[in-house]
Amino acid sequence: MRTTVGIIGAGPAGLLLARLLHNAGIESVVLEGRDRAYVEQRQRAGILEQGTVDVLREAGVGARMDREGLPHDGIELRFDRRRHRVDFPALTGGKQVMVYAQTEVCKDLIAAQLADGGPLLFEAEALAVEGADTAGPRIRFRHEGREQTLDCDYVVGCDGFWGVARKAVPEELVRTYERTYPYAWLGILADVAPSHDELIYNRSDRGFALMSMRSPHVTRAYLQVPAGTEAESWSDDEIWAELDRRLEVDDPTWRLARGPITSKSVTPMRSYVHEPMRHGRLFLAGDAAHIVPPTGAKGLNLAVGDVITFARALTAYVEKGDTEALDTYSETCLRRVWQAERFSYAMTTMLHRAPDATAFDDKIQLAQLDRVTTSKAAETDLAEAYTGFPV
Ligand SMILES: Cc1cc2nc3c(=O)[nH]c(=O)nc-3n(C[C@H](O)[C@H](O)[C@H](O)COP(=O)(O)OP(=O)(O)OC[C@H]3O[C@@H](n4cnc5c(N)ncnc54)[C@H](O)[C@@H]3O)c2cc1C
Repeated sequence: MRTTVGIIGAGPAGLLLARLLHNAGIESVVLEGRDRAYVEQRQRAGILEQGTVDVLREAGVGARMDREGLPHDGIELRFDRRRHRVDFPALTGGKQVMVYAQTEVCKDLIAAQLADGGPLLFEAEALAVEGADTAGPRIRFRHEGREQTLDCDYVVGCDGFWGVARKAVPEELVRTYERTYPYAWLGILADVAPSHDELIYNRSDRGFALMSMRSPHVTRAYLQVPAGTEAESWSDDEIWAELDRRLEVDDPTWRLARGPITSKSVTPMRSYVHEPMRHGRLFLAGDAAHIVPPTGAKGLNLAVGDVITFARALTAYVEKGDTEALDTYSETCLRRVWQAERFSYAMTTMLHRAPDATAFDDKIQLAQLDRVTTSKAAETDLAEAYTGFPV
């Protein structure tokens, strides 16, 4: 089998890249290790930056998002029994974010790809990328019980944190940067209308809590728990009671809406960057190259930024013979990646309570929140970062 761009992974990065290349008239083949149902049902991100929304629309896959997604003009910061609304359009010259689940983004992209795009093979597990630094890189993969080879002009590793693509970069050229956090997120989905019409990021002495949503009828909520916690060790009643305690506020109109919990899972918190993001004709995109803790809602949006950068760079080469953007892919992406790493780290450490936190640490967090909610400059910085850095 042969193609121009071999894409490993059908998460948001791989699927959107295939669509952008298709729209630019460039051939690709997507290899996905898991089956379609798995990719379409894996609960993960839910907040799309303004730039991500714009790109999905331009790529022709925004119609259902525009019908069913929930545009949001702000978030609430809650701490010290106080509520503060951050007004995105007012602070950023009109930017919003969209609540639309990653599962739905993937469903829309898969439907478009299967309707008129290049091959998208499910249960096709990449085993290795070979010849990354030659003019003819190859992906060795297993599909329908036999090993096969996909010959490519370029390979893009969109295979997430546990993928194989980045192993093809020689160790002596790689530098990694990592931080793990001593806490995790216990996430739930519940069949109940959200308690508030915008997301609530809540700092309390008992730990962080996030109130979010998937639709007008489905609540998504998270609790900070110790790293290594088993989701099933928390009963439904314990989860609601803990959310209630952490979200306490001096506002008699606040009420936590409870309902049947339909799913529980635990997400570890990690910051990770792999440099470089390109080796020869192998390019890394999305979680394959970097991870952020989910507090800043940046992971999916960073993946989108990477694949836009690659698609534009390859289009410039195909149309004008200009290789500069391909050559500088890693540097271009990493600049934006490190801004998102910085923001995600800052949000995480401002809002979570470390197990060894002291009274001094608590006061510093409260002073940070006080600053963000009383200085227009500080609040604008948060709003700009949350709604998205330019690609
Ligand atoms: C609980 C949680 C909440 C989150 N919330 C947000 C949020 O609000 N906003 C946000 O922007 N981000 C959020 N994220 C992060 C976001 O989900 C990820 O950053 C995003 O999924 C990255 O997309 P990706 O395509 O790079 O990788 P992935 O989604 O991980 O996709 C990689 C794909 O590659 C496939 N694959 C792996 N290995 C192979 C192989 N060898 N061969 C073939 N296929 C392979 C995998 O099966 C997978 O389908 C959240 C993450 C979690 C866990």
